[in-house]
Amino acid sequence: MKEAGMVVIGAGEAGARAVAELRERGWTGAITLIGNEGHCPYERPPLSKRQLTGEDAPAPVTVLGQSDLERLDVRFARGDAAVRIDRDSREVELASGRRVPYERLLLATGAAPRQLAAQGSGAGEILYLRRFEDMMRLRERLRPETRAAIIGGGFIGLEAAASALALGCAVTLIEVAPRILTRGVPEAIARRIEARHREAGVMFRIGTMLESIDREGDDLVIRLADGSETRCDAVIAGIGAVPETALAAGCGLTVANGIVVNERLQTSDPAIYAAGDCCSFPHPLYGGRHIRLEAWRNAQDQGMHAAAAMLGADEPYAAVPWFWSDQYELTLQVAGLLDGAASTVVRELDESGTLYFHLADDGRLLAASGIGPEGGVAKDIRLTEMLIARQARPLPEALADPAVKLKQLLRD
Ligand code: FAD
Ligand code: NAP
Repeated sequence: MKEAGMVVIGAGEAGARAVAELRERGWTGAITLIGNEGHCPYERPPLSKRQLTGEDAPAPVTVLGQSDLERLDVRFARGDAAVRIDRDSREVELASGRRVPYERLLLATGAAPRQLAAQGSGAGEILYLRRFEDMMRLRERLRPETRAAIIGGGFIGLEAAASALALGCAVTLIEVAPRILTRGVPEAIARRIEARHREAGVMFRIGTMLESIDREGDDLVIRLADGSETRCDAVIAGIGAVPETALAAGCGLTVANGIVVNERLQTSDPAIYAAGDCCSFPHPLYGGRHIRLEAWRNAQDQGMHAAAAMLGADEPYAAVPWFWSDQYELTLQVAGLLDGAASTVVRELDESGTLYFHLADDGRLLAASGIGPEGGVAKDIRLTEMLIARQARPLPEALADPAVKLKQLLRD
């Protein structure tokens, strides 16, 4: 019988951070990392940004390379998928037929692009962006003069639009909602992002949806619900992500928009944990309500937190949600959750950066968002995160006044 140790399914951001943290915290037993991609764990954020536009042929930016995994003494089942979890015998079955016993198991299976249900002979040609190979496929297709149609005005769509323009493509972006970035970004920031894209040359089709895609000779012809049509060479869809929960559901764990965990990131089976994009967890700062985040820092933090919990730590996971997006010279950042906010206070910064503070009706700071050139808003958002974590009720006048240092509010 092989030694049952710590087993992590999913060699992405959360899984990689978890295996490193297990060793960091002194676990000397076996660790197995199971990953269905052919790579060592790598970063996804560059896929829609500099790797798409860079001149040199890119390589994955690894979170943990082969030598790191060897140094950490992690057994890496690379390019092998977990296909079944047997909770009675505490074993994971792999596509290769291997069975891996576990003492504690972490599900860090991430999310997959939501597939666009489109009619027409060109529907099979839709491109998505989640993995390194997807990015390489896009690099091949996005050439100067390529007419690219992007479906979805979320992060993938907008970052891909900025990158495609940088590559010399003509870009049309189609968004079904009345505005872009409907999820977790305030309208004022969404408007500024949209204006920047328009200035760069993106053509928007807002508030209409795709009806069909047909291949007609060299063209892909997109027909929209408003009766119009667009001819293009490539169609990229970024219409959201769906959590990878099949393994969890298959072995009877509770699943509801993600693998449901408690505040220690433990699933309905105490020997099994979940972290990252796949996981639905209760957030103590937001009334204990279950949320699921699809963001890089959350995947890191939860991977590490789950590792600690697997070794017996008891603290609840309470990190303030945070994400960023880079488009052209602009960076936007959001800390906290916007829903439930009753009012917004605006602070104008130098060099055209703007911060928005989102307050509950009792004055509590729930979230902050910011937009500006490069990382201009980063420091202030970082300080605001600390105010959010403390459930502070700063005075709106102080928040609006750039002369009042946020550091000062932390001391109050
Ligand atoms: P993933 O990184 O997706 O890793 C999950 C891994 O598990 C994958 O390798 C998957 O193939 C594997 N897996 C799934 N099922 C199995 C199985 N049965 N057996 C074995 N392996 C399995 N966030 C930001 O905050 N800012 C950004 O700018 C940003 N940019 C992004 C750009 C792109 C193009 C993408 C796709 C995402 C971006 N994100 C960004 C989001 C961020 O990358 C994700 O939130 C993060 O990668 C989630 O980490 P994860 O470990 O939960 O999932
Ligand atoms: P997303 O941010 O959820 O955005 C999807 C967008 O597509 C939404 O605006 C959605 O509108 C719209 N949409 C849905 N169905 C549509 C349809 N049929 N036609 C046209 N528009 C449609 O998801 P994403 O951009 O696809 O990103 C996928 C994943 O990558 C997410 O996990 C995301 O967090 C991650 N990612 C993150 C970043 C970042 O944080 N900077 C960057 C890239 C990728 P509704 O909201 O109205 O449904």
